[in-house]
Amino acid sequence: MAEPLTVTPEQSVHYAYFFDLDGTLAELKPHPDQVVIPPTILQMLHHLAERNAGALALISGRSMVELDALAHPWRFPLAGVHGAERRDINGKMHIVHLPSAIERDISVQLHTALAKLPGTEMETKGMAFALHYRQAPEHEAALQALALRITQTWPQLALQQGKCVVEIKPKGTNKGEAIAAFMREAPFAGRVPVFLGDDLTDETGFRVVNEAGGISVKVGEGETQAQWRLAGVPDVWRWLESVYTAQQETTMNDRRDGHESFSRSI
Ligand SMILES: [Mg+2]
Repeated sequence: MAEPLTVTPEQSVHYAYFFDLDGTLAELKPHPDQVVIPPTILQMLHHLAERNAGALALISGRSMVELDALAHPWRFPLAGVHGAERRDINGKMHIVHLPSAIERDISVQLHTALAKLPGTEMETKGMAFALHYRQAPEHEAALQALALRITQTWPQLALQQGKCVVEIKPKGTNKGEAIAAFMREAPFAGRVPVFLGDDLTDETGFRVVNEAGGISVKVGEGETQAQWRLAGVPDVWRWLESVYTAQQETTMNDRRDGHESFSRSI
């Protein structure tokens, strides 16, 4: 049972921050292209990253290209496509590839099938495919059956359920693995992970964070393994603001302390 998140991270502990994007840092919209992260929130993320040696990453089902566009002008470490692609703090890419013949075959099959299901949308992410039914909930069962058939045909693929979307992605890739990979590398290693997410795909992340003794936060309603809960995106923004404010105060105090010790030493 997740408790309402009322605390801000302690200033004396070194944290590594991980954020899902859609439904966590930004409100969901009828179409993914309409989603934006408010500039003030991006600014706060940037400061949070700076304050924590760069230990802040976005962990999303979107492609990294889209994540960079949404985080512009900042370039954070990223995990895209539920961890099938990852860019570490040094800009090094870690990408899971599917054989291109398989990618092509699946793409053709899905295009043909979705053409008969008006209102559904397919999003191609290279090694993964998202089948959206937000605009056509009556086709959910058909899309689920279709996605299942694809993963049964190609056992190297797995299903990923989401809000009004079913995705087909490389088996063994998930957000938990992506967070664990970051946690093995500087500047994340040795820090306490904090992860905020709103959807089923975030549960693997919560598990990894819980095992590491970190802070796992579910945004919104629903069963979860997360220990804490925030009601919605505006609560995430308010929480971020309180973390930001607390850090600003610590910075001011540090400066004041530094000044005092300097004064005392002369
Ligand atoms: Mg989400």
